[in-house]
Amino acid sequence: MKFETIATQGFLDLAKQNKAVSTPIYANTAYSFDSVEYAVGLFDLKIAGDIYSRLSNPTNDILEKRIAALEGGVGALSTSAGQSAVLITMLNFAQAGDEIITSDKIYGGTYNLFAKTFKQMGINVVFITTDNLEDYEKAINEKTKCIYTETIGNPSILVADIEGLAKIAHKHGIPLVVDNTVPTPYLCRPIEYGADIVVHSTTKYLSGHGNAMGGVIVDSGNFDWSQNDKFKMFTTPDESYHGIVYAKEFGNAAFIVKSRTHLIRDLGCCQSPFNAYLTILGLETLHVRMERHCENALKLAQYLEKHPHINFVKYPYLKSSKDYEKAKKYLTHGASSLMGFGVDGDGTKFIESLKLFIHATNLGDVRSIITYPAGTTHRQLSDEQKIKAGITNDYMRASIGLENIDDIIEDIENAIKASRA
Ligand SMILES: *Cc1c(COP(=O)(O)O)cnc(C)c1O
Repeated sequence: MKFETIATQGFLDLAKQNKAVSTPIYANTAYSFDSVEYAVGLFDLKIAGDIYSRLSNPTNDILEKRIAALEGGVGALSTSAGQSAVLITMLNFAQAGDEIITSDKIYGGTYNLFAKTFKQMGINVVFITTDNLEDYEKAINEKTKCIYTETIGNPSILVADIEGLAKIAHKHGIPLVVDNTVPTPYLCRPIEYGADIVVHSTTKYLSGHGNAMGGVIVDSGNFDWSQNDKFKMFTTPDESYHGIVYAKEFGNAAFIVKSRTHLIRDLGCCQSPFNAYLTILGLETLHVRMERHCENALKLAQYLEKHPHINFVKYPYLKSSKDYEKAKKYLTHGASSLMGFGVDGDGTKFIESLKLFIHATNLGDVRSIITYPAGTTHRQLSDEQKIKAGITNDYMRASIGLENIDDIIEDIENAIKASRA
């Protein structure tokens, strides 16, 4: 089945759900066991089935299977938020004493998780300040457990060289983890370029309506966890399941099985079935929404690029973008709708004069949303730190919605005028 068909109909089993045409919300916590023997089989991971909704749920199952199919993976796990998708992914193979390599221009929430909480847990995250592949390779040592990147960085709007990073990671026997939140699988499928694990904040474009927190982890099934002795969690017995060895028992689904049976069991950051339902609704129109998100964003970026009072525009599909070649390679139908631009005027007046753009910190909503990092999220940073984070005092980060493009442009134009009055 092609992308659009999976997004709208994938894994629906009408007979199993009383012939209901849209996915039902299974709001139950527990599942009845046919016999003691059946229950034992479930608890020993010998047979597949539902035990308790912290571990699995039929509504979430449809979401997980659809996203896994859309990304080209062997399985997926839904989580309470994008943050917990990243957390579970990393804890699935890293522990105290290990290292992770990433860029210093990743999403702020992930940066804090890595720089502060992981540090407290004894996991050292190395932040590379350039996009030079050699700098990534130089940082790898015997403790390194993965390279982590974002297809399109938020709020930096940089495009990652997924293929280049995957080659380096694989040369050293470690996986590449890619946060594919901003493009979604409609625009980029990182597994096709060598990514081993893909994570998402489904809160953004996948659910698409700014109404459901969620995350998902997709396992490509391509990484061999027993190729070296770096990943003992997969190659040594798990005492909590009678000594099961994940790499042996579950083959190329070892990663995604362990993320569920071990980590979501222990951490409990599961996605509510209601949110999974909302996210499924979003997925069903993903391909249609992304087309318009991309079209509107490109039109606005081209308009702003020619504007005398706009200092710069960051959008990967602009020919002037230094990432244009990478964008054309990795982002097949468009560059999503996240962009940054600098307003030559008063930033506060600009933000407060917008009528259609909503001032909030979110992206991927059907409504246009604008964030003013220097005035809000990055306010506490010094000017020097802001520049390092790729944020100047005139920097606006916008997520372009599905409104009429003429209204979007008019709103921005009026606010630019007001910012200079
Ligand atoms: C929002 C976001 C996250 C975190 O997701 P939540 O659902 O807010 O927890 C992670 N990565 C990127 C790129 C994001 O934009």
